Amino acid sequence: TEEKSLHFIEQIIEDSLSNGFPQDKLRFRFPPEPNGYLHIGHAKSICLNFGLGLKYNAPVNLRFDDTNPAKEEQEYVDAIKEDLKWLGFNWTEELYSSDYFQQLYDWALAMIKNGKAYIDSQSSEDMAVQKGTPTQPGVDGPYRNRSVEENLTLFEGMKNGDFPEGSHVLRAKIDMTSTNMLMRDPLMYRILHRHHHRTGNQWNIYPMYDYAHGESDYIEQISHSICTLEFVMHRELYNWFLDQIYDDSKVRPHQYEFARLNLNYTVMSKRKLLQLVQEKIVNGWDDPRMPTISGLRRRGYTANSIRKFCDIIGVAKRENIIDFSLLEFCLREDLNKTAPRVMAVLDPIKLVITNYPEDKEEWLEAENNQEDESAGFRKVPFARELYIEREDFLEEAPPKFFRLSLGREVRLKNAYIIKGESVIKDAAGTITEIHVTYDEDSQSGSGSEASQRKVAGTLHWVSIQHALEAEVRLYDRLFIDEAPDSHKEKNFLEFMNPNSLQIVNGFVEPSLVSVQPGDKFQFQRLGYFSVDKDSAEGKIVFNKTVGLKDAWEE
Ligand code: ATP
Ligand code: MG
Ligand code: MG
Repeated sequence: TEEKSLHFIEQIIEDSLSNGFPQDKLRFRFPPEPNGYLHIGHAKSICLNFGLGLKYNAPVNLRFDDTNPAKEEQEYVDAIKEDLKWLGFNWTEELYSSDYFQQLYDWALAMIKNGKAYIDSQSSEDMAVQKGTPTQPGVDGPYRNRSVEENLTLFEGMKNGDFPEGSHVLRAKIDMTSTNMLMRDPLMYRILHRHHHRTGNQWNIYPMYDYAHGESDYIEQISHSICTLEFVMHRELYNWFLDQIYDDSKVRPHQYEFARLNLNYTVMSKRKLLQLVQEKIVNGWDDPRMPTISGLRRRGYTANSIRKFCDIIGVAKRENIIDFSLLEFCLREDLNKTAPRVMAVLDPIKLVITNYPEDKEEWLEAENNQEDESAGFRKVPFARELYIEREDFLEEAPPKFFRLSLGREVRLKNAYIIKGESVIKDAAGTITEIHVTYDEDSQSGSGSEASQRKVAGTLHWVSIQHALEAEVRLYDRLFIDEAPDSHKEKNFLEFMNPNSLQIVNGFVEPSLVSVQPGDKFQFQRLGYFSVDKDSAEGKIVFNKTVGLKDAWEE
């Protein structure tokens, strides 16, 4: 196996280990907010944090950052756990920021007593004006010097639900003139009379992310708290809040920032994904067109391919945009090795072998996967009447048409060489049947001279009387723009691809009779397909996962 060079976070860890930081104190966390389903961007953070846990044999907590009851739900908690397990990662402990509400409250009380926090009772507009701008310092507000007693009384009242939402907030008392806007007396608590999915109606105040996050890291003794680059400016505040509670017998968490994953032709903000779901632009969070983990899974992505993708894109400090086709490349590589080959016809036209006996059928041997010797063989039925793809026949074809036409020979995969003889058309001139003859001596694998004859190409097919009907959902990109949420003047919804889903009824070989949701196949010459959960007894539904080659290269 080739040595991979260390990424910058591994380098930071190696440096602290060589400076004496004990390896058994390394501890990581993945901290999703349960306000939506995980998406492919989260997978990057998951692979990073859990990858470090595996590499250093260190605990990795799953911490639900559930400090905003307005947006969080148990459904999301459950979905996040399912997706993580499916991706192949096991967390050490399942923890919730909401478990720390009492501790966070107690620390806030201590900060009030130490003169490090105060209740502000102005409107948010007034506070925003006093906050200044990046180039202009802020000014102190009229409540900044309230007495400790008054602050404690008000904070108690906020907690008990005595005040309406928006009437008071708790603010850290730092520096209204700091060059870092986030240090200008940031909010610590706001009043929300909301039911929380775990703490119910116990609390009327909820901590802000910046306050809760670092203190939660400290409670869990996280050594390396890894987040995305938008949080660089928050680090100073993260450290300030830690300074208020830090006891030097404990591990002091440090925040490190890496570049988030950006992918073209999609959106990844949970707010926007939620909008697609709520406005029924897609069929749920797990719609196979969504960049969510559950959508990718339903589409037919493997966990392996997603982990491989995260590995290839690496961990860096500079933002860039990754091409979606890289994700598809990783998928194809994996499916090529693992997906059994079968025959399916999605745009059928009838083909009749006029010299093949009407009452005859043969079960021919077909290799399941030439990339995997252990995959073995299966039997496929052959008979006089078959379906082939409509586009595999042209009545009059140019010389470079490597498919079937009149007077030319092609091979039927795993079967015989046939020759185009005539066509039957309806009144409108559309071909309804292709009549061919077959060469009885040309069976694949027979070793006969006739079987080795060179022909224009090889076609897939299914026997009409044996084939199973299947609904096949074909997908295209969800957006027609490379960066749909980057336009100042236009909403991302204006860039939806109206043709992102096309449903066809096709036919598949009978070996697929008892497939289960999630089973994956290569439909020969067509691409990779996965059985959808909408399948029912007698009705198989397939999702097209990805084509055989990169359609965008052409
Ligand atoms: P969104 O903006 O989609 O709502 P978020 O960052 O608010 O995402 P969280 O649930 O807070 O979502 O994210 C959990 C973890 O996943 C965080 O550490 C966050 O930095 C990381 N993460 C989220 N999106 C990406 C991304 N596109 N690339 C890498 N990491 C990400
Ligand atoms: Mg977040
Ligand atoms: Mg968010």
